Amino acid sequence: MTKITRTIKLKFVELNRCKALMFEQMTEENTRIANKLLSLPIKERRKMTTAKIMSELKSALVNQVIRHTTSPTGRKTKRYKVLPVEVNNQNWKLTQKGSTYSISFPTLKGEKRIPIEVASPHWQPVLDGLLEGTIQGGSFKLIKHRNKWYAYLSITEDVPEVKTEKRLGCDRGQNNLAVVAPKEGFGKFFKGHSVKHRRRYFQQRRQQLQEAKKFRALKKWNKKERRWMDAINHTVSRRIVRFAEYHNADVVIEDLEGCRKTMKQSQKSRSDSGESRHNWSYYSLEQKLNYKLALKGLKLIKRPAPYTSKSCSTCGVIGKRNRHDFNCPNGHYHNSDLNAARNLSQWDGFSCDLNLHQRCFCNGFIRFKLWGAWHTPELGEYG
Ligand SMILES: [Zn+2]
Repeated sequence: MTKITRTIKLKFVELNRCKALMFEQMTEENTRIANKLLSLPIKERRKMTTAKIMSELKSALVNQVIRHTTSPTGRKTKRYKVLPVEVNNQNWKLTQKGSTYSISFPTLKGEKRIPIEVASPHWQPVLDGLLEGTIQGGSFKLIKHRNKWYAYLSITEDVPEVKTEKRLGCDRGQNNLAVVAPKEGFGKFFKGHSVKHRRRYFQQRRQQLQEAKKFRALKKWNKKERRWMDAINHTVSRRIVRFAEYHNADVVIEDLEGCRKTMKQSQKSRSDSGESRHNWSYYSLEQKLNYKLALKGLKLIKRPAPYTSKSCSTCGVIGKRNRHDFNCPNGHYHNSDLNAARNLSQWDGFSCDLNLHQRCFCNGFIRFKLWGAWHTPELGEYG
């Protein structure tokens, strides 16, 4: 059985000013202790006990600070700006009363039980799992984000072992954010035109702010764009995972690492934010897809990119691609992105581990086998 650990974000609801202030004080005190500990040499830090530290914080929390400052990350730190309070798994408890979930842990004013919000229906099964004990809760951190307080709780859960027989290909692009398809049957398209449109709007606003020298607003604007794109990638990846679950299949994607350098793009389209590959967030989608698939027991397989969109997914012959259309010499027509996705789903068999950054020499050439024929792609050729 494989286990997966991830962090969930739980928002405290109906947090009155008094409690918010207390959380603030706790964080301050926590940071103060941590910085005091950092001034000591590591040997003395290891010998530290909670009895030796004068603090209003409960010893369970102080203990966590000591452990933090002696951990590998803590040892490298010189000074903390803010160190959030961490509560380990033995010191908090989740309770349910009616439809309200609350979390209780030691604070400055003794053990307190504070209600938390079930922000989305996705969290409901997780919280129920924690109550039943099917999901193990680790430690949580008390974090303030945009003036709201959250508990960042790390959870560990078992992942079902799934035996897959099929594979889905997933071609990422800009006209279509992603196209997923099995070898045969219907594929799924995630269109990218609205993303392109909004990217251009973001770019325009960015330029205006730049000219007006409003740098703080510019920074905010960039963050906004990133959050918006993140949300889209979450949605797309979730839907791809659902599609993969339906087919009970692993997902194969192209390895696009370093594609910014090797993919040719004209100056004109690069300066257009909608078209530019420089702010194409393919990697973020890949990461999200990876962990979401892992939670379902499925795998994400990476394949080197060359020739995925150049060969025909029906007969394997190299054909011609013209924007959205793909035509093969044998008279097969495909949508070019769908064709690439189908190719990925059935593509296997390299002459050697083809790595696009390391030139690999078998008989002096990089070679791979595609439907019985050997091909030697140019380095950095992506089709
Ligand atoms: Zn063909």
